[in-house]
Amino acid sequence: MAIICSSAGCKYRVPDLLAAEGLCVLHFTLSLEQTCNDLRRQTALGQVSRERIEEIHQFLQQRGELLARVSTAGLGLSDEMKARILATFLTLINLRENLDRVTARLATSKILS
Ligand SMILES: [Zn+2]
Repeated sequence: MAIICSSAGCKYRVPDLLAAEGLCVLHFTLSLEQTCNDLRRQTALGQVSRERIEEIHQFLQQRGELLARVSTAGLGLSDEMKARILATFLTLINLRENLDRVTARLATSKILS
C-alpha cells in the first residue's frame, strides 16, 4: 500500500527511498533546507564543538546521498521539482563551505591561544 506524506495537508505519495522519512520529495527537500538553516544558525554563533561539526559532516553526507538517489530514481519529477532539488543541493554545499570556515576559525583560535 502506498504511504502518503506525513506533512500536514499533503496528499503526495512517499517514494520507497523516503519511506523512513515518511515524506514526499517536496517535503523532504523543504525539511532538509529547514534543518540546514537551523544548523547554519547554530554554527554561525561559533559555539560549536569539533564533535558537533563532525556530526554535521555525517548528516550532510547521508542526506546528500539520499537526495542524489531520490533525484536519479526515475520518479518522473516535474521541472519545478528538479529545480527545487538542485536548490537543496546548493543549500547542502553552502552549509558544508560554512562549516569549513568555522573549522578554519577554530584551528586559528587554537594556534593563537
Ligand atoms: Zn508532502
